[in-house]
Amino acid sequence: MPQKIKLPSLLAVEILGTCAFELWNKGHNQCFLIKDNSHAYLFDAGSISALSYEYRAVFITHYHIDHTRYLLKLKTRVIVGPEVSDGMELDTSKGGKIVRYDAKSGLDVLKKLFEFKQVNCTKPPHVVYDDETIQVTSIPVNHAVGLFCTGYLVKNKATGNHIWISGDFGSMANDSINAIKKARPVQSFIELTYPDSYEPDGHQSYFSALRLVKELGIPDYRFVHLSYRWADIISERGLTSQIILPKIAKHREIYYF
Ligand SMILES: [Zn+2]
Repeated sequence: MPQKIKLPSLLAVEILGTCAFELWNKGHNQCFLIKDNSHAYLFDAGSISALSYEYRAVFITHYHIDHTRYLLKLKTRVIVGPEVSDGMELDTSKGGKIVRYDAKSGLDVLKKLFEFKQVNCTKPPHVVYDDETIQVTSIPVNHAVGLFCTGYLVKNKATGNHIWISGDFGSMANDSINAIKKARPVQSFIELTYPDSYEPDGHQSYFSALRLVKELGIPDYRFVHLSYRWADIISERGLTSQIILPKIAKHREIYYF
């Protein structure tokens, strides 16, 4: 009799959207689906493709519309996201309309529709969600002034492997950098808004993202959240996005961890 070996279950990450706020690339803004045979989880809600699934939990990096466009229409009970502050952007219309909330009414909207688990982004990285399939750790980052923002380390508890979803960011504290280094994510999805010719403010440029990749010593990564400025460069030079940035995550591409 051959010995039976039980293999650990891999989780799939499907890229539902990669581009920044501007509605190019068919408007599939930031959105990642993580799933196995029985459960689905969502990280950011910027793509209409997110409406095709039912989620055990949904994680939001911050409340800009390119990350929250379909949030209020999702089939889920649990939303995990940063503390709500003034300037939260949600879409209560049929899609594409930005509505800005103050902290109190934004929080009221979330609490009315979901069980809302608030991530404290002023605290160093800590576990914010845990079930038998995944464990999720917040990785706070600095993005827009006055708006809390966090990335997430997601651990597949069967394999022990991590992935890192950065969220939008210009910089992050040493605690966050050290947590990523310690987890050694097998795959990282890194926000990169600007081409090299633009100065980053609350975002990464091509060069700053490459510097960070080197500093973190991560084995593999894909870039997400491209600005329309990349589209100008791409069409100017008559190239495809894959030639300009070979590490771009593509819509509907799937990774495993
Ligand atoms: Zn943003």
